[in-house]
Amino acid sequence: MKKFHGHKHGLKLAAAEDSGEKTCSVCEQELSDAAAFSCTKRDCDFILHQSCSELPKKLKHKSDPNHSFSLLSEPPEHSLYYSCDACGDLIQAFGFQCDECDHRMHVKCALLPESVECKAHEHALELHYTTTKPNVDGCTFFYCDACDEAVTEGYWTYYCKECDFVTDLDCAFSAEAVKEKEKEKEEDKEEDEEELPIELQLAKARIDMENQRVRLEFQMQMARQNAQFMNSIANSWRSAF
Ligand SMILES: [Zn+2]
Ligand SMILES: [Zn+2]
Ligand SMILES: [Zn+2]
Ligand SMILES: [Zn+2]
Ligand SMILES: [Zn+2]
Ligand SMILES: [Zn+2]
Repeated sequence: MKKFHGHKHGLKLAAAEDSGEKTCSVCEQELSDAAAFSCTKRDCDFILHQSCSELPKKLKHKSDPNHSFSLLSEPPEHSLYYSCDACGDLIQAFGFQCDECDHRMHVKCALLPESVECKAHEHALELHYTTTKPNVDGCTFFYCDACDEAVTEGYWTYYCKECDFVTDLDCAFSAEAVKEKEKEKEEDKEEDEEELPIELQLAKARIDMENQRVRLEFQMQMARQNAQFMNSIANSWRSAF
């Protein structure tokens, strides 16, 4: 019977209706029509892409070229805040953990292509394992050129060196939708501008700026709290020994 080294039960090829709306237990991506394996044990809803069932236990990865990664089915013990180095989100299913240092990533992030054709840009974008945008003094975030949202410094990006064009990981793949959204937003704005007298337009612009400022402040506060949290963990470790 088919086995996967990260799961103790046997697996069988899943019927199409089994994989329907579900997500893969290993990479956390949609299964949709892709071939999948599901668990043979009743009441166990472990299901995974056929391609994920071929994942190696050990992996070499360009983001940490001198070390090797191990596939873990869950966060190691005592890891309270187990987030992905690539995208910053928590790792809640399988992850690749570096054998020698603190680097770890989602399976889906480990499998990101090194180069992608992005609808929002005329050149192919290359995957970068550090933030590539030079940032303005001490600023801990930069802006995605596709969606204009702030991205915290240090996470992986897709980048065109020639044009200094950068996107977060999601936008590199979904930029078309983003572009349409932008267009809609612009159309909305145009309509608004025709209707609103100038004083109201100015007031609206002020509110937009204020919202932006509040959002950034919130993000910076979160970053500070995170740092404090990590510090307090480090301190409690120190005092425990
Ligand atoms: Zn199972
Ligand atoms: Zn998968
Ligand atoms: Zn990730
Ligand atoms: Zn490492
Ligand atoms: Zn973006
Ligand atoms: Zn370019």
